Amino acid sequence: MIDCHLHSEFSIDSGGDLIDYCKRALNIGLTGIGFSEHIDFDPRDNGFGFYSDLIFGLNLNILKTIYMKQLSILKGVEITYQPQYMDKISSFLNETILDYVIGSIHFVDDWNISSSALEETIRFRKISQKASYQRYFIELRELVKSDFFEILGHFDIITRYGFLEYGNYNPIDYMEIIEEILKILINNGKILEINSSGLRNNPKTIYPHPEILKRYADLGGDTVVLSSDAHSPEFTGFEFKRLKQIALNSGIKYEAVFRQRKVIKKNPL
Ligand SMILES: [Zn+2]
Ligand SMILES: [Zn+2]
Repeated sequence: MIDCHLHSEFSIDSGGDLIDYCKRALNIGLTGIGFSEHIDFDPRDNGFGFYSDLIFGLNLNILKTIYMKQLSILKGVEITYQPQYMDKISSFLNETILDYVIGSIHFVDDWNISSSALEETIRFRKISQKASYQRYFIELRELVKSDFFEILGHFDIITRYGFLEYGNYNPIDYMEIIEEILKILINNGKILEINSSGLRNNPKTIYPHPEILKRYADLGGDTVVLSSDAHSPEFTGFEFKRLKQIALNSGIKYEAVFRQRKVIKKNPL
């Protein structure tokens, strides 16, 4: 198994040393890992201007040499989708060599829905669950219609802090737009991520919610990537046995392997 979603010290919100993720991955028997450092184009975002592709790439090349025979190491990024920065996203991707791009929503308009800051989380109090989640899924639909990414990150991340205000959610309430998003994803040949970070934080379920995963499989999606979204090395491969079981139980069969922004193989889960 490969953990495709790791943040190291090359992301603003992590201090993890690259080599410690490699050591941890080998300890727990992963066959590969992929770093997906944050790329943010919004000047209001803490991560704006933080990423250095040159230094990140040089460090990864050293690790690839050290671990050549034991572990495959991939170079990815996680790009925050904001429609107003699509030109900047495109020019960044034109000049950067990567194994894959994770497309994620962290902002809905000017609202950082993935931030723990009180001024952001308090905004859930001023709006109903229906209104805020629907608005989020509309933004997610715009993301999947764009073509800058290969992997869709943490499908329903809105529930991480939404959970604090509204408690559990039932994806069936939003299934019309969720199905629309899944169909676009599958038709465009993109890959869904199963992300275990929701298990160690709120809402204590995987992203996407298992109901969404089942719907993805029913609609013909048979391939995923597995992700811990670890921001420190000890969470590398977090709950992967459980993720794999949930995926298999949902009817998903394969894990995608990326190189140079293409799926080069599908490993049976
Ligand atoms: Zn993210
Ligand atoms: Zn992430």
